[in-house]
Amino acid sequence: MQTAEDILAEVLVSEAQLRQRVHELGEQITRDYAGQDLLLLCILRGGVMFLTDLMRQIRTPHAIDFMAISSYGVGARASAGNVRVILDINQSIENRHVLVVEDIVDTGHTIHAVLALLAARQPASLKICALLDKSSRREVEVPIHYVGFDIPNKYVFGYGLDVDEYYRNVPYIGVVKPEVYLKPEAE
Ligand code: 5GP
Repeated sequence: MQTAEDILAEVLVSEAQLRQRVHELGEQITRDYAGQDLLLLCILRGGVMFLTDLMRQIRTPHAIDFMAISSYGVGARASAGNVRVILDINQSIENRHVLVVEDIVDTGHTIHAVLALLAARQPASLKICALLDKSSRREVEVPIHYVGFDIPNKYVFGYGLDVDEYYRNVPYIGVVKPEVYLKPEAE
């Protein structure tokens, strides 16, 4: 199996940059949600490393929970509205302040569907915190209240984001070499 270095074209966001930005987001969230009943709702699996770092930078009491979503479809249209809940939360969010913690917003279809689902459960407020935003790729408009980094249209991995379920442990955000996608399956 190839190592992370084998598939890495370039480091897009370094460990130090991630640490700094996550700290800033934590400070901002601490200020914005002071005195409120905050629930951080992490979208698995990509958001998990971001969540665990972010929550340590939030200095106001809060709860956490997890949801897993699956997108299905074909090729580039894989996420276009075809979103299914694989794992749902089993606590009420009614009258609570919900902040959805997501790894990356690309076309926006996934988060759009998640928001619609959660809004129906009548939270006191519902906002999104995304580590990465490929805003140039957006197909459906979604309000993202907290953004770590706006990034170009490149396939990235690390810090929770995978390539075929591997490399989530890599501590930086790296761009995947294009040939990783072009090589034959059987290699
Ligand atoms: P959207 O529905 O916004 O198009 O897609 C969001 C989901 O697509 C993310 O939660 C993530 O799972 C996946 N995704 C989009 N871009 C990337 C990327 O560059 N790298 C990885 N690993 N996943 C991505």
